[in-house]
Amino acid sequence: YNISELEPFQKQFYVEQEDVRKMTTEQVEELRLDLDNLIIKGKDCPNPVTRWSQLGLSTSLMNMITNSLNFKQLTPIQSQALPAIMSGRDVIGISKTGSGKTISYLLPLIRHIKAQRNLAPGETGPLGLILAPTRELAQQIYEETIKFIGKDKDLSCVCCTGGSELKEQIRILKRGVKILVATPGRFIDLLTLNMGKLVNTRRVTFVVIDEADRLFDMGFEPQITQIMKSIRPDKQCVLFSATFPNKLRSFAVRVLHKPLSITVNSSNMVNENIEQSFVVCDSSTEKFGVLLSILSNQTNNVTSNAQNDESTDEQSDEKTIIFVASQQICDFVEKQLVRNGFEIFSIHAGKQYQERISNLESFKKIKNSILLCTEVMSRGLNVPEVSLVIIYNAIKTFAQYVHTTGRTARGVNHGKAISILEPDEIAAAYILTKAMHKQLDTQPIQQVTKLRAMSKEFEDGMKNGKYMLSTGFGGKGLDNLDSKREQKE
Ligand code: ADP
Ligand code: MG
Repeated sequence: YNISELEPFQKQFYVEQEDVRKMTTEQVEELRLDLDNLIIKGKDCPNPVTRWSQLGLSTSLMNMITNSLNFKQLTPIQSQALPAIMSGRDVIGISKTGSGKTISYLLPLIRHIKAQRNLAPGETGPLGLILAPTRELAQQIYEETIKFIGKDKDLSCVCCTGGSELKEQIRILKRGVKILVATPGRFIDLLTLNMGKLVNTRRVTFVVIDEADRLFDMGFEPQITQIMKSIRPDKQCVLFSATFPNKLRSFAVRVLHKPLSITVNSSNMVNENIEQSFVVCDSSTEKFGVLLSILSNQTNNVTSNAQNDESTDEQSDEKTIIFVASQQICDFVEKQLVRNGFEIFSIHAGKQYQERISNLESFKKIKNSILLCTEVMSRGLNVPEVSLVIIYNAIKTFAQYVHTTGRTARGVNHGKAISILEPDEIAAAYILTKAMHKQLDTQPIQQVTKLRAMSKEFEDGMKNGKYMLSTGFGGKGLDNLDSKREQKE
């Protein structure tokens, strides 16, 4: 192919809206964390969106999504893949089964096709090609596509797989079809039929490789490579998969052009060097007692603190950070701990800058020291000797949990994170259940039962709309950012 001889086509359709564009780097980072820890590789990725309205979709597509299908929120992969693909980028989207990958490519595909020149009389489609590993999957994608095409006469779609009636497929293809969903084997068969008069790749400008891991497991790599070679090199190509084995990775590097890779990483959000645990108290009054006993078990703290000076560098240094929800609680807990013989350094926004700095310096300098602080104050804090994080007041978002626990186990170090929950802190129970995942099995069974019950109460409440979690399901992440901005102003 000589690109200069090829008919030009458009693939950039996305305009980042004002509120999406003006997010700071930190806000984008935090939002991605909220979106089940979206990890991006590649240059110039557009910011994630949190509302369908930020995508500039046609009225009919918007109607379909928000009215007919009643999809309230974008899933994390959709939040990031939709703006990326609509910008014309090649994208690798990795996200678990059931996370809404189909729409992530289907909406941009439809947008793309609608912007291309119609098929001329006698010209052969398709414009968009979707490859899937099995007949069932191809059929499923086809049905989803048909739903979105609706009554639009500009668009047409056909599903071509082995094992289904070839004559019928040929009859439809003769009319000139814009979107073709196929298994790789059948697509190659069709290309060779009638010397390419029925189907050819001349007009193909958008390719989807869906369920790529399964396509590879089933040995379709040579066919896909052959197909890709027959399509113009400046095509847009996106690849979706639930897993991303190395074999697939090297293939993707070969066939995609400057791809953005977008990975949703929900189960692996918390640093795996952190040993997570929790205590569910029976009442709020019991909470302080639990804190005391945890601190006392952190043996070095109580008595040795006073005699500790920085010159005894032989001794190990195991620092603790305690997170509380507000300045008031911070002051209160500090008083109580001091009364119980602990030396405490505390920082919160209510303290003078100089005092904050000097407390932080002391915390760093003195071995086995304890820092008490509000969550906001701890952002970016990097003290490698922190071996224990105690979350005294329940965190409200995944991002907060990842941030606070992330104050320990810096670099290659190991660390512990303990959350102390009151019985009504069910949102936190839900977050913990998700974040701890398999680590839950190592916890005392009675405690786990309590936590799961609280978590379930929250989950049920989310299903019937009673509760909401700031996880990125539903623009909540962005709402948070908005309110933070307002606070600053
Ligand atoms: P995947 O390809 O990642 O396995 P699908 O694209 O098949 O997932 O989507 C799984 C299900 O979720 C489908 O029934 C789909 O209609 C539905 N779905 C997709 N996006 C959303 C959304 N934003 N909100 C609610 N449901 C959705
Ligand atoms: Mg799928």
